[in-house]
Amino acid sequence: MLREFDCAVVGAGLAGATAAIGLAGFGLRVAVIDGRSPVSAALGGDVRGLALASSSQQLLTALGLWSALRDHLTPIRQVHISTQGHYGSTTLRAATMGVPALGYVCPADQLLMTLDAALAATSGITPFYATTLQTLVPAADRVAVRLTGAQSETLISARLIVAADGSHSAVRRHYGIAAQQSDYGQTAIVANLSVEHPQLHTASERFTSAGPCALLPLGGARHVLVRTARSADAESLLTASPAAFLADVQTRFGWRYGRFSELGPRRAHPLILNRAQQLVAPRAVLIGNAANTIHPNAAQGLNLALRDVATLLDCLVGGDDPGLSATLADYAARRAQDQQHTVNFSHGLARLFALEAPLVGMGRGLALAACELLPPLRSALMARLMGWRAPPNEWLRGTHEAH
Ligand SMILES: Cc1cc2nc3c(=O)[nH]c(=O)nc-3n(C[C@H](O)[C@H](O)[C@H](O)COP(=O)(O)OP(=O)(O)OC[C@H]3O[C@@H](n4cnc5c(N)ncnc54)[C@H](O)[C@@H]3O)c2cc1C
Repeated sequence: MLREFDCAVVGAGLAGATAAIGLAGFGLRVAVIDGRSPVSAALGGDVRGLALASSSQQLLTALGLWSALRDHLTPIRQVHISTQGHYGSTTLRAATMGVPALGYVCPADQLLMTLDAALAATSGITPFYATTLQTLVPAADRVAVRLTGAQSETLISARLIVAADGSHSAVRRHYGIAAQQSDYGQTAIVANLSVEHPQLHTASERFTSAGPCALLPLGGARHVLVRTARSADAESLLTASPAAFLADVQTRFGWRYGRFSELGPRRAHPLILNRAQQLVAPRAVLIGNAANTIHPNAAQGLNLALRDVATLLDCLVGGDDPGLSATLADYAARRAQDQQHTVNFSHGLARLFALEAPLVGMGRGLALAACELLPPLRSALMARLMGWRAPPNEWLRGTHEAH
């Protein structure tokens, strides 16, 4: 039996789940398809802490999700940036910008669990978990989609396909959309740990010869560590004893936080740059990692993805047919600049901080010293990190005024 929907969101990751909740809020019938199972209360799979910028806060508030997350969020009131072995550092402070926080750290699995609960509770959403996309056939007014589940095949159709199926998007492949891909040759190793002298509400980014290392606060002594390593070194860091791993991290960070301890499970994330050459195709739109996968050095990937979602909702609000080509062209035009700037920013940082020549190291230190000494430069950096460069969005503004 063919089941008809207005939208089929392929991928119920952080971008796809958020998009589905927003689309259903417009009264659209939404299918959500993902190969994974729903996230259960037994958390612990994804140990990352995700830094959410104010643009993400606005969207999650508009969708009624921020209040459900509130108890799990840790505000970042300052970010300390330094380079190992070179003079020069800078501190970005929320107070300088007159805001309560530069961003909020949310445990990644808590965010996904909150989104899964909302997917289950939102009327108009039909989730297909443990199900993958098999084929996709676009026609003038609908796209036919064949899905494969554990036991059976399902045939659905939708007027719009939202490709939120990550870096290796099957939807992108089915539409023949090329992607520019490059491997950074780096792997982010993420783990939770405790510090002896917590610097409350402070995030630290430390550029080292092996790549950037970050510490994000989870509240109290607990922090999320992101230790970027050459991919060739990743396996040995993953299998090193906890004491040896902590000693390595201590060498890179120094003693600003005192002694590191209580290391949790380590997870590896190989880092790639992936850019789709087109954001839309007949009755299809690419969002999140399916459109742009970027280096996590500036904590921008999810924030960029949620700005994709916010603009998509702004383009579709009040329309009859979500898959009209004019609407999709409007979406692509409106997303181009923010995506280009954000990709350039994180890619530029990745290149600059991957180079190991002594003069480059000194240049990095000078750049940070310049940031410290020049308030306009520092403010521009903070505005970017906080998502203040987000393009105008009438729908979001309307929901904000209604709250
Ligand atoms: C170490 C690290 C730290 C990060 N920290 C931050 C941060 O602090 N702040 C920030 O903004 N960003 C951060 N990011 C980036 C952020 O994680 C990503 O931008 C975000 O997860 C993208 O979400 P997505 O839903 O687009 O893609 P994904 O999370 O990749 O989700 C894709 C979904 O599609 C599903 N799927 C794939 N193929 C199929 C198929 N054929 N059929 C059905 N389903 C399919 C998958 O199961 C998955 O659930 C970080 C990234 C890394 C690696």
